[in-house]
Amino acid sequence: MAKILCVLYPDPVTGYPPEYARDSIPMVEAYPDGQPMPSPATIDFTPGELLGCVSGELGLRKYLEAAGHELVVTSDKDGAEFERHLADAEVVISQPFWPAYLSAERIAKAPNLKLALTAGIGSDHVDLDAAIKSGITVAEVTYSNSISVAEHAVMQILTLVRNFVPSYKWVIEGGWNIADCVERAYDLEGMDVGVIAAGRIGQAVLRRLAPFGVRLHYFDTRRLPLELEQELNLTFHDSVESLVSSVDVVDVHAPLHPSTYHMFDADLLATMRRGSYIVNTARAEIMVRDDVVAALESGRLAGYAGDVWYPQPPAADHPWRTMPHHAMTPHVSGTTLSAQARYAAGAREILEDFFAGSPIRDEYLIVDGGALAGVGAASYTADGKASPGAGA
Ligand code: NDP
Repeated sequence: MAKILCVLYPDPVTGYPPEYARDSIPMVEAYPDGQPMPSPATIDFTPGELLGCVSGELGLRKYLEAAGHELVVTSDKDGAEFERHLADAEVVISQPFWPAYLSAERIAKAPNLKLALTAGIGSDHVDLDAAIKSGITVAEVTYSNSISVAEHAVMQILTLVRNFVPSYKWVIEGGWNIADCVERAYDLEGMDVGVIAAGRIGQAVLRRLAPFGVRLHYFDTRRLPLELEQELNLTFHDSVESLVSSVDVVDVHAPLHPSTYHMFDADLLATMRRGSYIVNTARAEIMVRDDVVAALESGRLAGYAGDVWYPQPPAADHPWRTMPHHAMTPHVSGTTLSAQARYAAGAREILEDFFAGSPIRDEYLIVDGGALAGVGAASYTADGKASPGAGA
């Protein structure tokens, strides 16, 4: 019987379970591209529950223990408890929101490890090259939170352009300072908005922004079908340099790999229109951290928002916490209660297939059989490190 080591973010400080704001979540029948929703044999949770934290256990305990497996759930992703259980774990479940970095060094200390499962999307916390060499399967719940992230990105674009956060603060502080609120507030209408990487999330953002009366641009390594470009009136750019110098708002949805690592450095930022905005819900290391801070301080950037940081969680003195004109959140865009129901069901589906020796859906596979596989063969590269600080 297998040991499953599941690393989840800590419970709410007010205790578990929380008092839920709503009684249910809307049921979504299918993903936009027709991919079927997660389809485990059954689930042992009520959709809408907080499943992604330690006490939520992704709703997996009853199923795994009934099958005779040992489930260890911890929020210790960097310490001795994680290392101790890793030594004989067959499955490690982690999440991008609270990543247990599976570096090559850690994989070398996990001789039984067969499956690294991401409860969400984005497996760059796993050293894919090391996983390939060790014959470990890497899988994630593709599409489970793509729309969740797209909604967050649209929200943060509006939050920056409309100067929402300072206006909210004036309310909390008892003020009515209209001029202070609006001295940096604009309409999004009429702006040029550029999306980097028009994959699942990027396309969803483009679709959601089209009715705002903006001019939409995108850059991707692969051009979208002409019909879609025409439907959304998209301008394609064949380089990131061309895109960023042509728009007022840049929204980033590219995976982290060697070609996107530190893509936004001082040189690229200097080519952007003065007063540009960046929203990045992809990965923090696509930015050079301190160059973003400098661009906000100089006014090259009018605002920066997103929910991805490096490392996660960031230190209390991480400069993005206090840089001017930001609207950052913790890494929460992809872990709404709505998304949790989907990625918990998807994690269960993957485990059911894994333990039954049945094939895991291609759309969930990143690495399998000693090579990039399924969706991973299109979205990832194995030559780069999972993350420059993997193991941190
Ligand atoms: P997809 O795989 O659907 O789309 C990624 C797109 O990026 C593809 O069209 C790909 O093109 C393109 N691409 C790859 N390399 C580059 C590059 N160098 N420059 C421009 N485009 C590139 O991914 P998703 O939309 O589902 O997710 C995107 C990223 O968002 C994930 O990799 C993850 O890091 C992040 N994410 C963040 C979440 C959060 O909670 N904040 C949750 C989920 C995802 P091609 O197909 O040709 O390779």
